[in-house]
Amino acid sequence: AVAMEAAGEDCCVKVAVHIRPLIGDEKLQGCKDCVTVVPGKPQVQIGTHSFTFDNVYGSTGSPSSAMFEERIAPLVDGLFHGYNATVLAYGQTGSGKTYTMGTGFRDGCQSGIIPQVMNVLFSKIENLKHQTEFQLHVSFIEILKEEVRDLLDPSFLSKPEGAKEGANGHVVKLASPGKPPIQIRESSNGVITLAGSTELSVSTLKEMAACLEQGSLSRATGSTNMNNQSSRSHAIFTITLEQMHKVNSACNENNGLNESMNEEYLCAKLHLVDLAGSERAKRTGSDGMRFKEGVHINKGLLALGNVISALGDEKKRKEGLHVPYRDSKLTRLLQDSLGGNSRTVMIACISPADINAEETLNTLKYANRAR
Ligand code: ADP
Ligand code: MG
Repeated sequence: AVAMEAAGEDCCVKVAVHIRPLIGDEKLQGCKDCVTVVPGKPQVQIGTHSFTFDNVYGSTGSPSSAMFEERIAPLVDGLFHGYNATVLAYGQTGSGKTYTMGTGFRDGCQSGIIPQVMNVLFSKIENLKHQTEFQLHVSFIEILKEEVRDLLDPSFLSKPEGAKEGANGHVVKLASPGKPPIQIRESSNGVITLAGSTELSVSTLKEMAACLEQGSLSRATGSTNMNNQSSRSHAIFTITLEQMHKVNSACNENNGLNESMNEEYLCAKLHLVDLAGSERAKRTGSDGMRFKEGVHINKGLLALGNVISALGDEKKRKEGLHVPYRDSKLTRLLQDSLGGNSRTVMIACISPADINAEETLNTLKYANRAR
């Protein structure tokens, strides 16, 4: 039995904007900063457009360091009370999604959201373990061209013919031929599971960090004109926390009560999603296959936008509106962690550079629809 209570806040989707600084390339090209933050307000202006969000971080908004405490730490707390949650980093390639999430994790890099989640998670467990038994599982997958790929596939760990060796001696393999495709399944109680993907049991921070690093290195790469990193796939790092809370276990020993009557079981998961680049396929300047991939990526992002906007529309929600989860693999996979009692945070990542103004405006419009 999973104990749930109504989520405290009215709207289950919070939207924050993360503005990165101008980076080397942009400075070299002489780019100007075209994004303004209204002082003291979570409001962003670009050209004649103005948007208000739940939070604005970076540039002259709140410091980026506040983002974790204000938006992410409460979701980690919620896990311990049985609430599922999803964090989504949205934005064009190069806008800072991977930097923000920490999915480009390397040894010693602790600044992204995922490494910080891991730190907080394990320190909370350390404080509670005298009264509660914990089980942690991790999966790390990506969705590319509407196909789910396992970034923790154990065969990545051996060194097959033709595999490339990445940093720190990890083996990078881009495909897993001959394996049955991973399937998204829904149980009768609405719980979504992935059949055929690796779910690793972890008991230490070090083990979880190793999963993040291994998966980050396994992530598919395919070069486009904009970025030769993994900009076309959605990467989803999922932490599942199971807990068995022993209630008054000291007196149970004496009165001989059936132990199960006095135990509380909770299971909740946190999806940390580094979304595919939101730029239009035409901007990548590629054709054929690549364009088709672009269309598929847009399918996931399009469905996500529709789902989140349906969830945010309270009037429609009360009328029992149909939420179109089934329109893409991404929304299908996140179904039990978007809406309902779950908490969702979307972080719209933007570049301040004038050359990116058009895509930045698209990102702000998309994020605005989510509120
Ligand atoms: P994306 O994943 O959206 O394609 P990246 O996270 O790879 O973008 O970021 C693009 C570049 O910008 C990288 O070189 C990254 O180090 C830099 N960058 C991103 N966000 C920040 C930030 N907040 N502060 C400093 N540099 C950043
Ligand atoms: Mg990236």
